[in-house]
Amino acid sequence: MAGRAAVAGGGVVGQRQALSTSAGLREEAGEERIEPADAESLMQIGTRRILSAEHDEYRRGVRAFFQDQVAPFHDEWEAAGQVPRELWTAAGEAGLLGVGVPEAEGGVGADIRYSAVVWEEQSYSNCSGPGFALHSDIVLPYLVHYGTAEQKAKYVPPMITGEAIGAIAMTEPNTGSDLQGVATKAVQVDDDTFKISGSKTYITNGALADTVIVVTRTGQPDKRGGGLTLFVVEDGMKGFSRGRKLKKMGLHAQDTSELVFEDVLVSKKEHMLGQEGGGFYHLMTELPQERLIVAGAGIAAAEAAYEWTRAFVNERKAFGQQIKRFQALAHRLAEVKTNVVIGRTFVDSCLELHAQGRFTSQMASMAKYWATDLQNEVVDVGVQMHGGAGFMEEYPICKAYRDARVQPIYAGTNEMMKELIARTI
Ligand SMILES: Cc1cc2nc3c(=O)[nH]c(=O)nc-3n(C[C@H](O)[C@H](O)[C@H](O)COP(=O)(O)OP(=O)(O)OC[C@H]3O[C@@H](n4cnc5c(N)ncnc54)[C@H](O)[C@@H]3O)c2cc1C
Repeated sequence: MAGRAAVAGGGVVGQRQALSTSAGLREEAGEERIEPADAESLMQIGTRRILSAEHDEYRRGVRAFFQDQVAPFHDEWEAAGQVPRELWTAAGEAGLLGVGVPEAEGGVGADIRYSAVVWEEQSYSNCSGPGFALHSDIVLPYLVHYGTAEQKAKYVPPMITGEAIGAIAMTEPNTGSDLQGVATKAVQVDDDTFKISGSKTYITNGALADTVIVVTRTGQPDKRGGGLTLFVVEDGMKGFSRGRKLKKMGLHAQDTSELVFEDVLVSKKEHMLGQEGGGFYHLMTELPQERLIVAGAGIAAAEAAYEWTRAFVNERKAFGQQIKRFQALAHRLAEVKTNVVIGRTFVDSCLELHAQGRFTSQMASMAKYWATDLQNEVVDVGVQMHGGAGFMEEYPICKAYRDARVQPIYAGTNEMMKELIARTI
Protein backbone atom coordinates (compact mmCIF):
# COMPACT_ATOMS: atom_id res chain seq x y z
CA MET A 1 0.00 0.00 0.00
CA ALA A 2 1.02 3.60 -0.55
CA GLY A 3 3.50 4.85 1.96
CA ARG A 4 4.20 1.51 3.53
CA ALA A 5 7.86 1.69 2.51
CA ALA A 6 8.08 5.12 4.08
CA VAL A 7 6.89 3.71 7.40
CA ALA A 8 9.20 0.76 7.17
CA GLY A 9 12.10 3.13 6.64
CA GLY A 10 10.94 5.73 9.13
CA GLY A 11 10.24 6.33 12.76
CA VAL A 12 8.07 3.35 13.50
CA VAL A 13 10.44 0.65 12.36
CA GLY A 14 12.37 -0.91 15.19
CA GLN A 15 9.60 -0.26 17.70
CA ARG A 16 9.37 -3.92 18.46
CA GLN A 17 13.03 -3.77 19.49
CA ALA A 18 12.43 -0.65 21.58
CA LEU A 19 9.44 -2.27 23.22
CA SER A 20 11.29 -5.38 24.18
CA THR A 21 13.74 -3.34 26.18
CA SER A 22 11.12 -1.14 27.80
CA ALA A 23 8.43 -3.70 28.49
CA GLY A 24 7.07 -4.21 31.96
CA LEU A 25 6.40 -1.74 34.65
CA ARG A 26 9.33 0.58 34.17
CA GLU A 27 8.69 3.81 36.00
CA GLU A 28 10.99 6.72 35.63
CA ALA A 29 11.71 7.79 39.16
CA GLY A 30 11.78 11.53 39.54
CA GLU A 31 10.39 12.30 36.11
CA GLU A 32 7.82 15.08 36.35
CA ARG A 33 5.10 14.69 33.79
CA ILE A 34 2.54 17.29 32.83
CA GLU A 35 -0.94 16.74 34.28
CA PRO A 36 -3.68 16.48 31.64
CA ALA A 37 -5.56 19.41 33.24
CA ASP A 38 -2.56 21.67 32.69
CA ALA A 39 -1.49 20.39 29.28
CA GLU A 40 -1.74 22.54 26.18
CA SER A 41 -3.87 19.82 24.64
CA LEU A 42 -5.58 16.75 26.09
CA MET A 43 -3.86 14.80 23.30
CA GLN A 44 -0.40 16.14 24.15
CA ILE A 45 2.47 13.66 24.26
CA GLY A 46 4.46 13.65 27.50
CA THR A 47 1.53 13.95 29.89
CA ARG A 48 -0.01 11.54 32.46
CA ARG A 49 1.80 10.07 35.43
CA ILE A 50 1.14 6.45 34.48
CA LEU A 51 3.22 6.80 31.31
CA SER A 52 6.97 7.09 30.74
CA ALA A 53 9.33 8.47 28.10
CA GLU A 54 9.34 5.02 26.47
CA HIS A 55 5.55 5.08 26.13
CA ASP A 56 5.87 8.58 24.60
CA GLU A 57 8.43 7.37 22.08
CA TYR A 58 6.17 4.49 21.11
CA ARG A 59 3.20 6.89 20.86
CA ARG A 60 5.06 9.14 18.40
CA GLY A 61 5.50 6.20 16.07
CA VAL A 62 1.91 5.02 16.46
CA ARG A 63 0.62 8.56 15.87
CA ALA A 64 2.69 8.80 12.70
CA PHE A 65 1.29 5.46 11.56
CA PHE A 66 -2.31 6.61 11.90
CA GLN A 67 -1.53 9.99 10.32
CA ASP A 68 0.39 8.59 7.36
CA GLN A 69 -0.97 5.12 6.80
CA VAL A 70 -4.60 5.34 7.87
CA ALA A 71 -6.08 8.87 7.82
CA PRO A 72 -5.40 9.71 4.14
CA PHE A 73 -7.20 6.56 2.97
CA HIS A 74 -9.99 6.30 5.53
CA ASP A 75 -12.76 7.89 3.43
CA GLU A 76 -12.02 5.39 0.66
CA TRP A 77 -12.22 2.53 3.16
CA GLU A 78 -15.49 3.88 4.60
CA ALA A 79 -16.97 3.63 1.12
CA ALA A 80 -15.62 0.06 0.78
CA GLY A 81 -16.91 -0.93 4.23
CA GLN A 82 -13.57 -2.40 5.27
CA VAL A 83 -9.85 -1.70 5.40
CA PRO A 84 -7.38 -3.49 3.09
CA ARG A 85 -5.41 -6.51 4.28
CA GLU A 86 -2.19 -4.63 3.49
CA LEU A 87 -3.00 -2.23 6.32
CA TRP A 88 -2.90 -5.14 8.74
CA THR A 89 0.52 -6.33 7.63
CA ALA A 90 1.79 -2.73 7.67
CA ALA A 91 0.51 -2.41 11.26
CA GLY A 92 2.23 -5.69 12.15
CA GLU A 93 5.45 -4.51 10.59
CA ALA A 94 5.22 -1.22 12.48
CA GLY A 95 4.79 -3.01 15.82
CA LEU A 96 1.16 -2.09 16.48
CA LEU A 97 -0.33 -5.58 16.78
CA GLY A 98 -0.26 -7.90 19.78
CA VAL A 99 2.28 -5.88 21.75
CA GLY A 100 1.01 -7.48 24.96
CA VAL A 101 1.72 -11.05 23.82
CA PRO A 102 4.43 -12.55 26.06
CA GLU A 103 7.91 -13.15 24.65
CA ALA A 104 7.49 -16.90 25.05
CA GLU A 105 4.63 -16.79 22.55
CA GLY A 106 6.50 -14.64 20.02
CA GLY A 107 5.47 -11.19 21.26
CA VAL A 108 7.35 -8.59 23.25
CA GLY A 109 5.33 -8.78 26.47
CA ALA A 110 4.74 -5.05 26.72
CA ASP A 111 2.46 -3.88 29.51
CA ILE A 112 -1.14 -2.82 28.86
CA ARG A 113 -0.13 0.84 28.57
CA TYR A 114 1.53 0.17 25.21
CA SER A 115 -1.70 -1.43 23.97
CA ALA A 116 -3.56 1.60 25.33
CA VAL A 117 -1.33 3.89 23.27
CA VAL A 118 -2.54 2.12 20.12
CA TRP A 119 -6.27 2.35 20.90
CA GLU A 120 -5.93 5.96 22.15
CA GLU A 121 -4.07 7.07 19.04
CA GLN A 122 -6.71 5.41 16.89
CA SER A 123 -9.37 7.49 18.68
CA TYR A 124 -7.30 10.65 18.29
CA SER A 125 -6.95 9.95 14.56
CA ASN A 126 -10.79 9.64 14.29
CA CYS A 127 -10.23 6.58 12.09
CA SER A 128 -12.46 3.85 13.43
CA GLY A 129 -11.91 1.37 10.59
CA PRO A 130 -9.13 -0.98 11.67
CA GLY A 131 -10.26 -3.46 14.34
CA PHE A 132 -6.78 -3.56 15.84
CA ALA A 133 -7.76 -3.45 19.53
CA LEU A 134 -10.22 -6.31 19.19
CA HIS A 135 -7.61 -8.37 17.36
CA SER A 136 -4.68 -7.56 19.66
CA ASP A 137 -6.18 -7.11 23.07
CA ILE A 138 -9.38 -9.16 22.98
CA VAL A 139 -8.84 -12.13 20.62
CA LEU A 140 -5.11 -12.74 21.16
CA PRO A 141 -5.41 -12.95 24.97
CA TYR A 142 -7.88 -15.87 24.64
CA LEU A 143 -5.35 -17.74 22.49
CA VAL A 144 -2.48 -16.90 24.83
CA HIS A 145 -4.36 -17.74 28.04
CA TYR A 146 -6.30 -20.84 26.97
CA GLY A 147 -4.48 -22.19 23.90
CA THR A 148 -2.37 -25.35 23.92
CA ALA A 149 1.29 -25.00 22.90
CA GLU A 150 0.37 -26.20 19.41
CA GLN A 151 -2.54 -23.76 19.10
CA LYS A 152 -0.38 -20.84 20.22
CA ALA A 153 2.39 -21.78 17.80
CA LYS A 154 -0.11 -21.98 14.97
CA TYR A 155 -2.38 -18.98 15.55
CA VAL A 156 -0.41 -16.32 17.47
CA PRO A 157 2.59 -15.46 15.22
CA PRO A 158 0.57 -14.67 12.06
CA MET A 159 -1.71 -12.45 14.13
CA ILE A 160 1.28 -10.47 15.41
CA THR A 161 2.49 -9.86 11.86
CA GLY A 162 -1.02 -9.04 10.66
CA GLU A 163 -1.05 -11.90 8.15
CA ALA A 164 -4.00 -13.39 10.02
CA ILE A 165 -6.87 -11.30 11.40
CA GLY A 166 -8.79 -12.29 14.52
CA ALA A 167 -12.44 -12.07 15.54
CA ILE A 168 -14.60 -13.30 18.41
CA ALA A 169 -18.15 -14.48 17.82
CA MET A 170 -20.45 -14.43 20.83
CA THR A 171 -23.55 -12.54 19.69
CA GLU A 172 -26.34 -14.28 17.77
CA PRO A 173 -29.49 -13.01 16.10
CA ASN A 174 -31.50 -13.99 19.17
CA THR A 175 -29.05 -13.36 21.96
CA GLY A 176 -26.54 -10.69 22.92
CA SER A 177 -26.56 -9.52 26.53
CA ASP A 178 -27.74 -12.91 27.76
CA LEU A 179 -24.87 -15.22 26.90
CA GLN A 180 -26.77 -18.09 28.45
CA GLY A 181 -28.99 -17.91 25.39
CA VAL A 182 -26.23 -18.95 22.97
CA ALA A 183 -27.78 -21.47 20.59
CA THR A 184 -24.90 -22.19 18.17
CA LYS A 185 -24.36 -25.87 18.84
CA ALA A 186 -21.19 -27.94 18.89
CA VAL A 187 -22.18 -31.59 18.93
CA GLN A 188 -19.60 -34.29 19.54
CA VAL A 189 -19.60 -36.82 16.68
CA ASP A 190 -16.63 -38.98 17.70
CA ASP A 191 -13.79 -38.97 20.26
CA ASP A 192 -12.06 -35.99 18.71
CA THR A 193 -14.63 -34.34 16.43
CA PHE A 194 -17.32 -31.73 17.07
CA LYS A 195 -19.80 -30.39 14.52
CA ILE A 196 -20.70 -26.70 14.81
CA SER A 197 -23.97 -25.32 13.48
CA GLY A 198 -25.59 -21.95 13.99
CA SER A 199 -25.07 -18.31 13.15
CA LYS A 200 -23.53 -15.22 14.71
CA THR A 201 -24.10 -11.55 14.02
CA TYR A 202 -22.52 -8.11 14.50
CA ILE A 203 -19.04 -9.64 14.43
CA THR A 204 -16.19 -7.11 14.27
CA ASN A 205 -13.55 -8.04 11.65
CA GLY A 206 -16.13 -10.60 10.56
CA ALA A 207 -15.61 -10.27 6.82
CA LEU A 208 -11.81 -10.33 6.93
CA ALA A 209 -11.16 -12.67 9.85
CA ASP A 210 -8.96 -15.75 9.40
CA THR A 211 -9.11 -16.92 13.01
CA VAL A 212 -12.47 -16.76 14.75
CA ILE A 213 -13.12 -17.72 18.36
CA VAL A 214 -16.67 -19.05 18.41
CA VAL A 215 -18.80 -19.40 21.52
CA THR A 216 -20.82 -22.62 21.22
CA ARG A 217 -23.22 -24.62 23.31
CA THR A 218 -21.93 -28.10 24.13
CA GLY A 219 -24.12 -28.79 27.14
CA GLN A 220 -27.29 -27.74 28.93
CA PRO A 221 -27.34 -24.24 30.44
CA ASP A 222 -27.15 -24.12 34.22
CA LYS A 223 -27.25 -21.33 36.78
CA ARG A 224 -23.47 -21.16 36.94
CA GLY A 225 -22.99 -20.56 33.21
CA GLY A 226 -22.02 -24.11 32.28
CA GLY A 227 -22.47 -25.68 28.88
CA LEU A 228 -20.57 -23.16 26.75
CA THR A 229 -17.34 -24.05 24.95
CA LEU A 230 -14.96 -21.98 22.81
CA PHE A 231 -13.64 -23.26 19.49
CA VAL A 232 -11.27 -21.72 16.96
CA VAL A 233 -12.78 -21.76 13.49
CA GLU A 234 -10.47 -20.99 10.58
CA ASP A 235 -11.18 -19.26 7.30
CA GLY A 236 -11.63 -21.92 4.61
CA MET A 237 -13.09 -24.61 6.87
CA LYS A 238 -15.88 -26.47 5.10
CA GLY A 239 -19.29 -25.14 6.16
CA PHE A 240 -17.96 -21.81 7.50
CA SER A 241 -19.15 -18.80 5.53
CA ARG A 242 -19.80 -15.09 5.90
CA GLY A 243 -23.27 -13.63 5.80
CA ARG A 244 -23.95 -9.98 5.10
CA LYS A 245 -21.41 -7.27 5.79
CA LEU A 246 -23.72 -5.06 7.84
CA LYS A 247 -24.45 -1.41 7.05
CA LYS A 248 -24.16 0.68 10.20
CA MET A 249 -24.80 4.09 11.75
CA GLY A 250 -21.04 4.54 12.25
CA LEU A 251 -17.72 2.67 12.09
CA HIS A 252 -18.20 2.64 8.33
CA ALA A 253 -14.74 1.32 7.49
CA GLN A 254 -15.03 -1.56 9.97
CA ASP A 255 -16.27 -4.88 8.63
CA THR A 256 -19.05 -5.98 10.94
CA SER A 257 -20.53 -9.21 9.62
CA GLU A 258 -22.78 -12.16 10.06
CA LEU A 259 -21.06 -15.55 10.28
CA VAL A 260 -22.66 -18.84 9.34
CA PHE A 261 -21.66 -22.32 10.54
CA GLU A 262 -23.19 -25.23 8.66
CA ASP A 263 -21.93 -28.50 10.13
CA VAL A 264 -18.36 -27.24 10.49
CA LEU A 265 -16.18 -30.13 11.67
CA VAL A 266 -13.56 -29.18 14.24
CA SER A 267 -11.10 -31.24 16.22
CA LYS A 268 -11.29 -31.21 20.01
CA LYS A 269 -7.52 -31.46 20.25
CA GLU A 270 -6.74 -28.84 17.65
CA HIS A 271 -9.61 -26.34 17.87
CA MET A 272 -11.21 -26.46 21.31
CA LEU A 273 -9.96 -23.47 23.29
CA GLY A 274 -9.76 -23.98 27.03
CA GLN A 275 -12.04 -26.26 28.99
CA GLU A 276 -15.01 -28.08 27.53
CA GLY A 277 -18.01 -26.44 29.21
CA GLY A 278 -15.73 -23.70 30.60
CA GLY A 279 -16.45 -21.10 27.93
CA PHE A 280 -18.53 -18.86 30.16
CA TYR A 281 -15.77 -18.67 32.80
CA HIS A 282 -13.17 -17.88 30.14
CA LEU A 283 -15.39 -15.10 28.82
CA MET A 284 -15.97 -13.67 32.30
CA THR A 285 -12.22 -13.65 32.88
CA GLU A 286 -11.41 -11.83 29.65
CA LEU A 287 -14.34 -9.41 29.40
CA PRO A 288 -12.96 -6.85 31.92
CA GLN A 289 -10.04 -6.14 29.58
CA GLU A 290 -12.44 -5.73 26.65
CA ARG A 291 -14.39 -3.18 28.71
CA LEU A 292 -11.24 -1.33 29.67
CA ILE A 293 -10.35 -0.99 25.97
CA VAL A 294 -13.77 0.46 25.16
CA ALA A 295 -13.49 2.84 28.14
CA GLY A 296 -9.97 3.87 27.13
CA ALA A 297 -10.89 4.44 23.50
CA GLY A 298 -13.95 6.36 24.73
CA ILE A 299 -11.99 8.74 26.95
CA ALA A 300 -9.48 9.35 24.17
CA ALA A 301 -12.34 10.06 21.76
CA ALA A 302 -13.79 12.52 24.30
CA GLU A 303 -10.40 14.23 24.64
CA ALA A 304 -10.17 14.62 20.88
CA ALA A 305 -13.77 15.85 20.59
CA TYR A 306 -13.10 18.45 23.29
CA GLU A 307 -9.99 19.67 21.44
CA TRP A 308 -11.76 19.92 18.06
CA THR A 309 -14.60 21.84 19.69
CA ARG A 310 -12.22 24.10 21.54
CA ALA A 311 -10.41 24.91 18.30
CA PHE A 312 -13.72 25.69 16.64
CA VAL A 313 -15.06 28.03 19.36
CA ASN A 314 -11.77 29.89 19.32
CA GLU A 315 -11.97 30.38 15.57
CA ARG A 316 -15.67 30.97 14.97
CA LYS A 317 -17.11 34.45 15.43
CA ALA A 318 -20.72 35.56 15.98
CA PHE A 319 -22.09 38.91 17.09
CA GLY A 320 -18.61 40.38 16.62
CA GLN A 321 -16.72 38.07 18.95
CA GLN A 322 -15.29 34.57 19.27
CA ILE A 323 -18.15 32.28 20.22
CA LYS A 324 -16.16 31.04 23.22
CA ARG A 325 -16.83 34.48 24.74
CA PHE A 326 -20.48 33.50 25.25
CA GLN A 327 -20.67 32.32 28.80
CA ALA A 328 -23.22 29.62 27.98
CA LEU A 329 -20.66 27.92 25.75
CA ALA A 330 -17.61 28.63 27.90
CA HIS A 331 -19.18 27.17 31.04
CA ARG A 332 -20.41 24.11 29.18
CA LEU A 333 -16.89 23.53 27.81
CA ALA A 334 -15.46 24.05 31.29
CA GLU A 335 -17.76 21.27 32.51
CA VAL A 336 -16.80 19.05 29.59
CA LYS A 337 -13.07 19.55 30.16
CA THR A 338 -13.44 18.86 33.87
CA ASN A 339 -15.41 15.66 33.24
CA VAL A 340 -12.94 14.46 30.63
CA VAL A 341 -10.00 15.03 32.96
CA ILE A 342 -11.82 13.20 35.77
CA GLY A 343 -12.58 10.34 33.37
CA ARG A 344 -8.96 10.22 32.22
CA THR A 345 -7.83 10.00 35.85
CA PHE A 346 -10.06 6.98 36.55
CA VAL A 347 -9.21 5.19 33.30
CA ASP A 348 -5.49 5.78 33.89
CA SER A 349 -5.89 4.38 37.37
CA CYS A 350 -7.57 1.30 35.84
CA LEU A 351 -4.70 0.91 33.36
CA GLU A 352 -2.14 1.16 36.13
CA LEU A 353 -4.00 -1.37 38.29
CA HIS A 354 -4.32 -3.67 35.28
CA ALA A 355 -0.55 -3.49 34.74
CA GLN A 356 -0.15 -4.50 38.40
CA GLY A 357 -2.67 -7.35 38.13
CA ARG A 358 -5.12 -5.60 40.44
CA PHE A 359 -7.86 -4.59 38.01
CA THR A 360 -11.32 -5.96 38.79
CA SER A 361 -14.48 -6.71 36.87
CA GLN A 362 -16.40 -4.09 38.84
CA MET A 363 -13.91 -1.36 37.92
CA ALA A 364 -14.18 -2.46 34.29
CA SER A 365 -17.95 -2.07 34.35
CA MET A 366 -17.70 1.35 35.98
CA ALA A 367 -15.08 2.60 33.54
CA LYS A 368 -16.93 1.24 30.50
CA TYR A 369 -20.31 2.70 31.26
CA TRP A 370 -19.10 6.03 32.61
CA ALA A 371 -16.48 6.73 29.94
CA THR A 372 -18.72 5.82 27.02
CA ASP A 373 -21.66 7.85 28.35
CA LEU A 374 -19.27 10.77 28.79
CA GLN A 375 -17.92 10.28 25.26
CA ASN A 376 -21.45 10.56 23.89
CA GLU A 377 -22.15 13.66 25.94
CA VAL A 378 -18.96 15.33 24.72
CA VAL A 379 -19.54 14.60 21.03
CA ASP A 380 -23.10 15.84 21.37
CA VAL A 381 -21.97 19.11 22.96
CA GLY A 382 -19.26 19.31 20.30
CA VAL A 383 -21.70 19.00 17.40
CA GLN A 384 -23.99 21.62 18.93
CA MET A 385 -21.15 24.12 19.43
CA HIS A 386 -20.09 23.65 15.81
CA GLY A 387 -23.55 24.76 14.69
CA GLY A 388 -24.30 23.67 11.10
CA ALA A 389 -20.65 22.72 10.63
CA GLY A 390 -21.13 19.98 13.20
CA PHE A 391 -23.50 18.25 10.81
CA MET A 392 -21.00 18.36 7.95
CA GLU A 393 -18.75 15.45 7.08
CA GLU A 394 -15.74 17.71 6.58
CA TYR A 395 -15.60 18.38 10.32
CA PRO A 396 -14.18 15.55 12.44
CA ILE A 397 -16.81 16.00 15.14
CA CYS A 398 -19.47 14.79 12.71
CA LYS A 399 -17.87 11.35 12.27
CA ALA A 400 -16.91 11.18 15.95
CA TYR A 401 -20.59 11.67 16.85
CA ARG A 402 -21.72 8.77 14.65
CA ASP A 403 -18.93 6.47 15.80
CA ALA A 404 -19.51 7.18 19.49
CA ARG A 405 -23.04 5.84 19.57
CA VAL A 406 -22.11 2.17 19.58
CA GLN A 407 -19.78 2.49 22.55
CA PRO A 408 -22.50 2.17 25.25
CA ILE A 409 -23.90 -0.84 23.34
CA TYR A 410 -21.11 -3.31 22.59
CA ALA A 411 -18.73 -5.07 25.00
CA GLY A 412 -21.75 -5.45 27.29
CA THR A 413 -24.40 -2.72 27.20
CA ASN A 414 -24.17 0.05 29.77
CA GLU A 415 -27.36 -1.28 31.36
CA MET A 416 -25.60 -4.62 31.85
CA MET A 417 -22.60 -2.78 33.33
CA LYS A 418 -24.92 -1.25 35.94
CA GLU A 419 -26.42 -4.68 36.61
CA LEU A 420 -22.95 -6.01 37.36
CA ILE A 421 -22.06 -3.07 39.60
CA ALA A 422 -25.44 -3.32 41.34
CA ARG A 423 -24.67 -6.91 42.35
CA THR A 424 -21.97 -5.55 44.67
CA ILE A 425 -24.38 -3.25 46.50
C1 LIG B 1 -20.65 -2.39 15.77
C2 LIG B 1 -20.82 -3.60 16.65
C3 LIG B 1 -19.76 -4.48 16.80
C4 LIG B 1 -19.93 -5.64 17.56
N1 LIG B 1 -18.91 -6.54 17.65
C5 LIG B 1 -19.14 -7.74 18.23
C6 LIG B 1 -18.15 -8.76 18.17
O1 LIG B 1 -17.05 -8.58 17.63
N2 LIG B 1 -18.45 -9.96 18.72
C7 LIG B 1 -19.64 -10.20 19.34
O2 LIG B 1 -19.84 -11.31 19.80
N3 LIG B 1 -20.59 -9.24 19.43
C8 LIG B 1 -20.35 -8.01 18.87
N4 LIG B 1 -21.33 -7.05 18.93
C9 LIG B 1 -22.58 -7.33 19.61
C10 LIG B 1 -22.79 -6.58 20.90
O3 LIG B 1 -21.91 -7.03 21.89
C11 LIG B 1 -24.26 -6.74 21.30
O4 LIG B 1 -25.03 -5.99 20.36
C12 LIG B 1 -24.54 -6.25 22.71
O5 LIG B 1 -23.96 -7.10 23.66
C13 LIG B 1 -26.05 -6.16 23.01
O6 LIG B 1 -26.69 -7.34 22.66
P1 LIG B 1 -28.02 -7.28 21.76
O7 LIG B 1 -27.72 -6.46 20.56
O8 LIG B 1 -28.50 -8.66 21.55
O9 LIG B 1 -29.05 -6.48 22.62
P2 LIG B 1 -30.05 -7.09 23.74
O10 LIG B 1 -29.28 -7.98 24.64
O11 LIG B 1 -31.23 -7.65 23.04
O12 LIG B 1 -30.46 -5.79 24.52
C14 LIG B 1 -31.48 -4.89 24.05
C15 LIG B 1 -31.68 -3.83 25.13
O13 LIG B 1 -32.13 -4.47 26.34
C16 LIG B 1 -31.28 -4.13 27.41
N5 LIG B 1 -31.17 -5.25 28.34
C17 LIG B 1 -30.96 -6.57 28.07
N6 LIG B 1 -30.86 -7.28 29.18
C18 LIG B 1 -31.03 -6.41 30.21
C19 LIG B 1 -31.03 -6.53 31.63
N7 LIG B 1 -30.81 -7.70 32.24
N8 LIG B 1 -31.23 -5.42 32.37
C20 LIG B 1 -31.42 -4.21 31.77
N9 LIG B 1 -31.42 -4.04 30.44
C21 LIG B 1 -31.21 -5.11 29.66
C22 LIG B 1 -29.93 -3.82 26.77
O14 LIG B 1 -29.12 -3.03 27.61
C23 LIG B 1 -30.38 -3.10 25.50
O15 LIG B 1 -30.64 -1.76 25.80
C24 LIG B 1 -21.17 -5.87 18.22
C25 LIG B 1 -22.21 -4.95 18.10
C26 LIG B 1 -22.05 -3.83 17.31
C27 LIG B 1 -23.21 -2.89 17.17
